[in-house]
Amino acid sequence: MTRTRLTAACLAVLMCGASAPALAQDFQSTPVVTDARQAALALPRAQPAIPAPVDTPWPGVIQYRADVTDLDRRIVNVTETIPVAAPGPLTLLYPKYLPGNHADTGPIQLISGLTVTANGRRIEWLRDTVEPYAFHLDIPAGVTSIEVAFQWLTQPDSSNWRVTMTPQMVNMQWEKAILYPAGHFARQIQVAPSIQLPEGWGYGVALDTVSHDGGLAVLETTDLYTLVDSPMFAGAHYRRIDIDPAGDDVHLNIVADEAGNIAPTDDQLKLFENLVTQADRLFGARHFDNYEFLFALTDTMGGIGLEHHRSSENTGAPDFFTAWNKSAGNRSLLPHEYTHSWNGKFMRPADELTANHNVPTQNTLLWVYEGQTEYWGEVLSVRSGLHTKDEGLATIAGIAAFYDNQPGRAWRALQDTNNHNLLGYRVPGQWTSWMRGTGDYYRESLLIWLDADTLIREETNGRKSLDDFARAFFGHGDGDWTPQGYTFEQLVAALNAVHPHDWTGFLRQRLDAVGPDARAPLAGLERGGYRLTYTDALTDTEKAVHGRWANDFQYSLGFTLSGDRIVSVLWGGPAFQQGIGAGWSLVAVNGQTGSAEALREAVTASKGTDAPIELLIKSGDRFRTVAFDYHDGLRYPRLERIEGTPDRLGDILTARRR
Ligand SMILES: [Zn+2]
Repeated sequence: MTRTRLTAACLAVLMCGASAPALAQDFQSTPVVTDARQAALALPRAQPAIPAPVDTPWPGVIQYRADVTDLDRRIVNVTETIPVAAPGPLTLLYPKYLPGNHADTGPIQLISGLTVTANGRRIEWLRDTVEPYAFHLDIPAGVTSIEVAFQWLTQPDSSNWRVTMTPQMVNMQWEKAILYPAGHFARQIQVAPSIQLPEGWGYGVALDTVSHDGGLAVLETTDLYTLVDSPMFAGAHYRRIDIDPAGDDVHLNIVADEAGNIAPTDDQLKLFENLVTQADRLFGARHFDNYEFLFALTDTMGGIGLEHHRSSENTGAPDFFTAWNKSAGNRSLLPHEYTHSWNGKFMRPADELTANHNVPTQNTLLWVYEGQTEYWGEVLSVRSGLHTKDEGLATIAGIAAFYDNQPGRAWRALQDTNNHNLLGYRVPGQWTSWMRGTGDYYRESLLIWLDADTLIREETNGRKSLDDFARAFFGHGDGDWTPQGYTFEQLVAALNAVHPHDWTGFLRQRLDAVGPDARAPLAGLERGGYRLTYTDALTDTEKAVHGRWANDFQYSLGFTLSGDRIVSVLWGGPAFQQGIGAGWSLVAVNGQTGSAEALREAVTASKGTDAPIELLIKSGDRFRTVAFDYHDGLRYPRLERIEGTPDRLGDILTARRR
């Protein structure tokens, strides 16, 4: 590389933030680098390559110990004894691509205090300069095992990373507090885990317990893949409840901020038992020996819904059971996560079935992994009674309306939202209707699967349905929980085996639809016997399902209120046309103090009149008055039955009798 070209390269980097004078100074004092090899030699130490994983066993068992008793400082202390077979280079990895996150979200930033010793002497580590999740070691001769110690510095609030330790509970996620040797498949690395808990705490975890004494829980030795797939909820207030009508293999493990909130009624527990029964009838097989729902009732620990093969991490409001009528919006979470044991964990898109947690995952089939799980999650919610039919219809109405009004399809196909997830996790934004994002491969895909289900039912005169696909595709191999990879072509073949159709064309048309004329996949609604309408008077059920309805003006003025802040402005909608975007708040409505209630009254009063709706809004020190020439009143989505047509959606939502 010539000096001139190097200057150009540095200037390109400069645009990312360094100041120009500083760069010029650095450059003058830096020796000219002539090639990449010399650049590597210029590092403090040469770094070896990170070994690619191979499907052979790591010799020996890693002894793993975590201590989660430092609740006041929210620090997890970890020590690992890792057997080593030979002297020379060894690379330790911190998990980067976390299962269920579909992205490179491992919080390496929160790992500190890393110290490695052997035979009582320090071994200095070198972090890889390209891959910061890798630590290179040089193992001296005569060493048969190394001691690795570090801390996971969990966070006091959920602004950047979710809270996992509170005075009353801990969510232990092993993948956020472990280092493992590079070069082997995760399932080929054996780990013997133990965890020191505050004395007297209970816990739920899919792994078997060897012993639990004095707060020290020793768990069964397992492989790294299974350990990472088996998180723990532990707490001062804990109860484990059998919800398996067919045996004793499915349990609710409830931890709570307050003991009094662990109060499910028998009627409520019956609904969770129904969920287990209805999943058995849908899939016809179980891919687990035991399944543990980990369910935290909390407003102090960070929220989560994360699937695993034999368990799931879930949170709900502290009054989830005690104020049942308020919890409708969250009652499909457990059905969703349970479905993942079949869809996502057992049957896994081939490009997500990676060798270890540092091989990049790809997500081209998330619209199946998440999208069909979202579909079955809602269907099973209603079939089990966790949702009433009306609650299910209200949920689907909300999804259908969102995509019917979403302008983002003009530039971005649904398929791209699957591909995008590698770039970041749950990217928040003011412009969700335009950006599109994580939610779309869940919820828009639900509409695609409703479309497919009603199509099969229509074309077979009700003899076949997507239930048949679920049973064939997810329900083979009862008792087997070795993940199986599948491709788009195999998915299409399985659909064709249920009912021959141009499924490739059907799916690609919906997944790749883009441009100003592209429309949401709503055909399943009418084929299901319903049409999407809008109402200005929500029922109590609709209010419970759409918990934020009182602040929601998406389908009238084109925004939502969060307190006095104007958020989620609909791209191209009425507020957008007024030049309103991120950072504005509502001060006054028609000359009176502004509030969601005042705005609802003003929108209602203007219906059918010529009078504008006048808002005073504020951003920083700026005030603006904007007048909406809008006269259609409040609008909230609803599915309305098309009389005289088959109620296929009703059939889909009806509990199976066998
Ligand atoms: Zn999911």
